[in-house]
Amino acid sequence: MSRQLVSFSDLRSAAYCPRKCYYQRTRDDYDREPPPEVAEIRALATRYEDLLDRSVDALEAEPIAVSPEAYRDRLSRTRDRLREAGHWDRLREPADRDVLCAGRHCRGIVHKVLDAPLAPAVVSPGSPPDQGVWEPQSVHAVAAAKALAWEYETPVDRTWIEYPAHGVIRRIDLTVRRKARYRRALRTVRELDGPPPRIDNRSKCEACEFAADCGVRTRTLRSLLGL
Ligand code: SF4
Repeated sequence: MSRQLVSFSDLRSAAYCPRKCYYQRTRDDYDREPPPEVAEIRALATRYEDLLDRSVDALEAEPIAVSPEAYRDRLSRTRDRLREAGHWDRLREPADRDVLCAGRHCRGIVHKVLDAPLAPAVVSPGSPPDQGVWEPQSVHAVAAAKALAWEYETPVDRTWIEYPAHGVIRRIDLTVRRKARYRRALRTVRELDGPPPRIDNRSKCEACEFAADCGVRTRTLRSLLGL
């Protein structure tokens, strides 16, 4: 019997909100292809040295999320910190890119494959939190590590998450807690057999593309109604 592998994107959305994951999996018209802007931002993660050499004017034309001055400053600090720890070149010139990996339970594209030691890097088009990484991205990164470890038959105990529009790169270790959250998301996806309850976190709903279908009153709608 073939293995039912869960996609990285389903795991990510299940960690964000199980109901959102349900909508993604059941809507025939849901487009899983990311918009072109996402590819443009992800491409920044392949050009760090080039971006560091760019003038402020040239950086203005790049899909960065902060001012060119702030971007250069942040990316320089990221480079210095990672170079000192011996990781900059591995992240800048990974052993492989955009590799489709199928693990024991999940599958998806690993944006960068680093070697010595083997580790995946997930390239996020979004913004980093003040510290650490967002939980859906942590789940995604653990899934990428598990798939990579399975595919290469080599243990993986850390992953990287890059936020190239912000010049930020963060390392995360596969702690017991992170792995438990990954397993919880996996269970959530596998057990979906109807729409799960709505979550209470309205700030997540504000950013959710299914808010209108879901019937959640977001701030935008409330303010339109003058409530
Ligand atoms: S609007 Fe909120 S409750 Fe509904 S699917 Fe989106 S995040 Fe989940």
